[in-house]
Amino acid sequence: MSRLGTESAFEVLARAKALERQGRQIIHLEIGEPDFDTPKHIREAAKQALDDGATHYGPAAGLPELREAIAKDVGATRNIPVSPEEIVVTPGAKPIMYFVITALVNPGDEVIYPNPGFPIYESVINFVGGKPVPIPLREESDFGFDMAVFEKAVSTKTKLIIINSPQNPTGGVLGADQLGRIAEMAVHYKIPVLTDEIYKAFLYEGEFVSITRFPGMRDLAIVLDGFSKSYAMTGWRMGYGVMPIPLAEHVTRLMVNSNSCTASFTQWAGIAALQGDQMPVRQMVAEFKRRRDLIVAGLNALPGVSCRTPKGAFYVFPNIKALGKPSGQVAEAILKEGGVAVLGGTAFGQYGEGYLRLSYANSEANITKALDWMRPVLARLAG
Ligand code: PMP
Repeated sequence: MSRLGTESAFEVLARAKALERQGRQIIHLEIGEPDFDTPKHIREAAKQALDDGATHYGPAAGLPELREAIAKDVGATRNIPVSPEEIVVTPGAKPIMYFVITALVNPGDEVIYPNPGFPIYESVINFVGGKPVPIPLREESDFGFDMAVFEKAVSTKTKLIIINSPQNPTGGVLGADQLGRIAEMAVHYKIPVLTDEIYKAFLYEGEFVSITRFPGMRDLAIVLDGFSKSYAMTGWRMGYGVMPIPLAEHVTRLMVNSNSCTASFTQWAGIAALQGDQMPVRQMVAEFKRRRDLIVAGLNALPGVSCRTPKGAFYVFPNIKALGKPSGQVAEAILKEGGVAVLGGTAFGQYGEGYLRLSYANSEANITKALDWMRPVLARLAG
């Protein structure tokens, strides 16, 4: 158990809530979830499904109707053929990480993953006894993979490559040239690639490119995606993986051994999400783009802070190296003195030092207020 890590966002959220109980007003920029309500037609579909009796166990890999709808959607958004047998539905997308790493990584196997990156990758790699091989993401290249490090890191010992684009925590997007090169190396060494595409709808510039489109990747790619972010359904717990059928069978067995199945009525809501009006998604993304521009401009006007404009997701990863303090300490001061909950960059790995992560999944009014509250704290730290 000592090898298992955590996700600090949930701990900072708990500390921020404790301050609120003491009467403090806190603005939450720590947790990564859309502040929008789940669109009405999706909620209605869940209510209907409950009334229609979708209250029983279902198949471990997910309802056939939902797997069919996901296959169509993933096929259309990635421009590849996908069959329902390749899909496993899980309670949230997170279990796909856990199951895939458990299924593919033996003690001593090397796993390549982005750093700073979603902390659960490193946590689960360590938990199963694998050897984490972090690839630094560099601010200079808009937080793309450091390809020189990547090329040297890949070997016959690599049993899995994890990528995430658009990315948490930096908002960075891997370009087609980088994805193409990662695919070439993966195909050369026959290494499976877990591609975390949960933020694919949150892209503010350019077209979404999935590594699945590159030659040879159909047999190696494992797509992780879900409903949490795109449809503002974080609390519903619904996600899925798309993977080669033999691996899908293993992951389904892990489902049988852990969850039995994903809740039935939520899966009918998932079908409504995929097949219904996509306008709420587009409206939410347009709103997030305005917030991104607001927060980036505001951060760049704060003492000791410089911030790039990220192309995707709903996070900014401002550079605070000018303050000369550990990022965890700066985040703590911003929460305690300023009343704004943010995360230190090291919550996402060692290469996150010198940065903060702010989620801009909050109203423009709150973002403006948060920037105002942060200013005196940063002015003091900048001395
Ligand atoms: N991948 C990334 C990169 C994420 O940031 C998150 C959620 N914070 C997830 C996966 C998990 O999503 P879910 O809530 O569907 O489990």
